[in-house]
Amino acid sequence: MPDAPINAKELKRIEALKSYNILDTATEKDYDEITELAAAICGTPIALISFIDKDRQWFKSAKGVDVSETDRLYSFCAHAIKKPNELMQVEDAHADSRFKNNPLVTGAPHITFYAGMPLVDDKGHALGSLCVIDSITKKLNDTQRKGLEILASQVVDKLILRKHLITLESANQRVKRLNDLLKEKEGEAMQIIKNTPLAMALHTGKEMVIRFGNDLMLKAWGKTEAVFGLPFNMALPELAALNFPLTMQRCYYTGESYSQTEAHMSYVHNGVLREFYYNYSFTPLKSADGTVWGLLNTALDVTELVKNRLAIERAEEQLRVAVQSANLGTWFIDANTREFIPSIRLKEIFGFNPDDAMPYEAALNQIPEVYKQTVTQAVEDAISTGKPYDIEYPVVGFHDGMTRWVRATGKMFPGDETHQPNLSGTMLDITDRKLEEQRKQDFIGIVSHELKSPLTSLKGYLQILEAKAKKLTDVSLLHLTSKALSQSNKMNALITGFLDVARLGDTKIKLNRTTFDMADLVKNSESELLLNVSTHTVIYAPVKHTLVHADQDKIEQVVINFINNAIKYSPDYTTIKVDCVTKGSNAFVTVKDEGMGISEKDRLRVFERFYRAESKDINHISGFGIGLYICQEIIRGHGGKIGVDSQLGKGSTFWFEIPLADAD
Ligand code: ADP
Repeated sequence: MPDAPINAKELKRIEALKSYNILDTATEKDYDEITELAAAICGTPIALISFIDKDRQWFKSAKGVDVSETDRLYSFCAHAIKKPNELMQVEDAHADSRFKNNPLVTGAPHITFYAGMPLVDDKGHALGSLCVIDSITKKLNDTQRKGLEILASQVVDKLILRKHLITLESANQRVKRLNDLLKEKEGEAMQIIKNTPLAMALHTGKEMVIRFGNDLMLKAWGKTEAVFGLPFNMALPELAALNFPLTMQRCYYTGESYSQTEAHMSYVHNGVLREFYYNYSFTPLKSADGTVWGLLNTALDVTELVKNRLAIERAEEQLRVAVQSANLGTWFIDANTREFIPSIRLKEIFGFNPDDAMPYEAALNQIPEVYKQTVTQAVEDAISTGKPYDIEYPVVGFHDGMTRWVRATGKMFPGDETHQPNLSGTMLDITDRKLEEQRKQDFIGIVSHELKSPLTSLKGYLQILEAKAKKLTDVSLLHLTSKALSQSNKMNALITGFLDVARLGDTKIKLNRTTFDMADLVKNSESELLLNVSTHTVIYAPVKHTLVHADQDKIEQVVINFINNAIKYSPDYTTIKVDCVTKGSNAFVTVKDEGMGISEKDRLRVFERFYRAESKDINHISGFGIGLYICQEIIRGHGGKIGVDSQLGKGSTFWFEIPLADAD
């Protein structure tokens, strides 16, 4: 008996049949009622809802027979479905060549009459048929045919409905499974998120619902736990405006991570528009089968870090601009290799061309011999002890032979993971200033020298005059001559000061050291001053035997200068205290007054050459700002220290210390 051929179309039909999940299911009342009705309408004892599987026909409902399936080889329905839109009617199977040898015809149930309407679904697949069978010859009338057709289409409707229900049911089940999975995973995820030191949050669904976020993330958002369960847009509109949801959705759908470093963003945080920098990433969370079930949002607030770095970069830029505009030369020495890297401006100061090589040795060669030792020592000390330096010295240009004065600073910078330890610094061409100072000094030197000899003669004449006045016992003449002598002494002191400055120049002060007792020195100054000072009370504290090895005249000059200043800058009838004690291995001298005091700004500068504090109280007090400068040079020459402690309006204490003779 010919059979329905198994070709591609047939395979598709079988596949469609399987998709209804109807085969081998239990009998159902709905379908049985249809076969019942079909048999009644057509007046046949048998009615079947038959589905044609690959090798069999299977009955969903079988009225009048007890079998649930038969071999496809003997199936009438397999023939019926070949013409899906037509009812197939076999009035007498015994007379039909296709069926006369069919065992179902020759044997039980002795099929003679067959009428089958194919069950065709909405995709055009003929899945089987609704058929009626009898053991006697028969022919359906139109009403019966129509009835069979209607019932067949009802079977199909039921099948399709059933399929939809099954799909819906399995979808529901899948959602339920997914949710279970989500719950289980969320539990794990939340634990990790809670304990992580990064800001973290978990989002799910295409609306990026915030399932959970740790405290750090809530802080970053400026929100509370109230945002949990809300879609991103609704919970964080200020961030949604920055396009985050779109980026997150992309990760969710593509399954690919997204990250940004030092991303700059501004948003309203706790009611204030603020600027932030974040390293952040969105990582899709996947189930074992690769489906994305959530998104992990991780953020690290690097605002401080980035701002600090930007501030440093800005400061560096400003420094570069400052170095350029001040025309500073800069240099750098690798403390390990001693490699010397000069800037172009530095080469220029040393008289080299920009393209010339200028190693450290070459630079040193341009420094005159008398200064070379000081410079190399300063560099070596800075490298070995970290002591910064600030020195002035001349250099002779390599190509042009010109002498230029420079002010050089150097500072040691310890190494770190990325930098070698290095010494670097700046160099400023101060030739003009030096020449100006030189001119001033030359002038002061010449003028003072020229004034000195007439003044010495004048003093001599005044002394003769004073002696004569004493003899004549002319009181008013004596008074006038001693006043004139005192004024000429003042003038002498001033000129001596000028000459000292002029002589000082750039060389160190010359000292004539002897070992003497500071107690004697203080006593000398006391007897000299007490004679001349009537406006102030000068109190000398008793001084113990304190031996120093120093230039007595010069140290006395410092003490007297301090006391004279104390007198000059304090109101009349106030007290000045002079004290000399031993402090460690130094003799420590203080002169304390109750005068106008010195502001903090001026305190740092009063020892500079020609510096005078600017104030209306001082304008009427004569002076040139060289006394303290000379004092400083003298004390430094002794390897000592000098300074002042003061409070504006409350008096000053000038002090110096020089090493004791033993310490020498
Ligand atoms: P001069 O007194 O001739 O101006 P100095 O070098 O001795 O020069 O002093 C420098 C400056 O320091 C003074 O002009 C004054 O402003 C300030 N100064 C010095 N001594 C005192 C003091 N005892 N009290 C207040 N200011 C002082």
